[in-house]
Amino acid sequence: MMGLGLKDLIKRAAEDLKRAKHAIALSGAGISTESGIPDFRGPSGIWTKDLEAEKRAYQSYERFLEDPKVYWEERLSTPSLLGELEETRPNPGHYALAELEKMGILKCIVTQNIDGLHEKAGSRNVIEYHGNYFKLRCSKCGSRSGVKDMDLGKLKREEKLPPLCKCGGVIKSDVVHFREPIPLDAAKNSQEEAWKCDLMLICGTSAVVYPFAQLPRLAKKHMIEKETKTESGLYLIKQVPGTTIIEVNAEPTPLSEEGISDYLIKGKTGEILPGIVQEVKRLY
Ligand code: NAD
Repeated sequence: MMGLGLKDLIKRAAEDLKRAKHAIALSGAGISTESGIPDFRGPSGIWTKDLEAEKRAYQSYERFLEDPKVYWEERLSTPSLLGELEETRPNPGHYALAELEKMGILKCIVTQNIDGLHEKAGSRNVIEYHGNYFKLRCSKCGSRSGVKDMDLGKLKREEKLPPLCKCGGVIKSDVVHFREPIPLDAAKNSQEEAWKCDLMLICGTSAVVYPFAQLPRLAKKHMIEKETKTESGLYLIKQVPGTTIIEVNAEPTPLSEEGISDYLIKGKTGEILPGIVQEVKRLY
């Protein structure tokens, strides 16, 4: 897509979306930076500025497995790395994706974000691949509940940590920590979506965290048969990629560099996604 300007790329994305029968979006921390939540690996990202914070984050899951009481005590006495998530509001990028879903174009969002901002913006079919900061999950039966449904402070005061599920399992935060397996429902549903989509709009992710970063690669493998008629009148059936992959990101990623995405629209999701919605509306 060399040579096309920003406006042309936005128009192209709108046309591709209009044509798609099953478009999905993937999102990462970049879509929420314009809501005041820092990302990890962008120029002002948490890891970019503080390597120690990254090392500590890598230990959370091990701590839970070794001693869930200590895990919970630490969690309840340490502020979230991402700031006061309760106070954050969706930005135009989140609203644009919600609008594409309402228009019947976008069928699903698979997000790495734990901030719940897609739902706050009105998106309904959201797969929270790395969980949700405002939820708890049982490590045994996998059932989820709201953080507010349990008085964790009281459990701490009464020395009753860790919280336990009705099934007897130990409850952890729903947030998926580094080295923790992706919950089966999220892993299965997102794979199915990646396999069946014919358009994937990837917004604000460095695409280096696995297995999430596998989803565009899976979509890329989806080939379809296309019939073409040669000049001599013969029909040829060719295998061609069945999924258009579009990235909206502030900088190139391994997906753009390795040719997994068909094109990158470089810039802010809070500006480009509303621009795409506007163009889609013009096409109807
Ligand atoms: P990342 O920090 O690795 O990458 C973010 C990418 O978005 C970078 O390439 C950056 O240049 C780009 N970006 C930043 N602001 C942008 C904007 N306004 N418009 C377009 N692009 C922008 O994030 P990741 O790939 O999502 O991986 C980080 C992991 O950390 C995820 O697994 C996620 O669970 C977690 N995380 C979540 C939140 C959140 O819930 N908001 C915030 C930080 C990290």
